[in-house]
Amino acid sequence: MRWRTYAGRGIRLDSQVIENSLLAAVPRKAYQRLHAALEPVELSFGEVLYEPGDTIRHVYFPNDALVSLLTLADGHLALEVGLIGREGMVGIPLVLGHAQSAVRALVQGGGAAMRMAAAPFRKEFALSPPLQKELYSYTYTLMAQISQTAACNRFHVVEQRLARWLLMTHDRVKADRFRMTHEFLGHMLGVRRVGVTKAAQALQESGLIRYSRGDIIVLDRKGLEAAACQCYQVVRDMHDG
Ligand SMILES: [Zn+2]
Repeated sequence: MRWRTYAGRGIRLDSQVIENSLLAAVPRKAYQRLHAALEPVELSFGEVLYEPGDTIRHVYFPNDALVSLLTLADGHLALEVGLIGREGMVGIPLVLGHAQSAVRALVQGGGAAMRMAAAPFRKEFALSPPLQKELYSYTYTLMAQISQTAACNRFHVVEQRLARWLLMTHDRVKADRFRMTHEFLGHMLGVRRVGVTKAAQALQESGLIRYSRGDIIVLDRKGLEAAACQCYQVVRDMHDG
């Protein structure tokens, strides 16, 4: 079900389209049970959905929004360990029987999502084997993404990691153009702004992207794939498989 909010009112655009691919993969009958408890929301850039230790009050199925999972060190240094878009759900601890978030969930790409309160989600999850199957499978790929990202942050240079991050974002937003500030990219990649600037310039000089004032345009997708470390393909193959 596709909705957009205009002037605070939800408008139904198309009763056939389910933009989040995890929801779209749930068989129709099971989806119809979920539907009553799903609520369309607009997530804005920079919004924090959970902090570490917060009780998860809602799960989110992004349509075109993008949510970063960040692990904190020393209470303030944040590093991205996972990225969730239309292929997934934010709030996976509930699937595993935990009510608290271990990470910060931060909206890094504003957009639409479907939201569901924790209580009805738990109830539907317990009752629906098709939903369990989709969510366990997604949890597995998210865990793979998180562990690959740990190795990536340790072993691969900023330019490769930036290329990987741009590809992951490109896959999820399904648009060649998106917004991202230097400061935010620095947090995502765990490097200083100057490191982001150098890496972005290198990709730009190779003709792979155009980057100006937080506006990123992907010009050469294939070239970007060649510039990224193998981590991108490893995680992608797992999603596809
Ligand atoms: Zn890597």
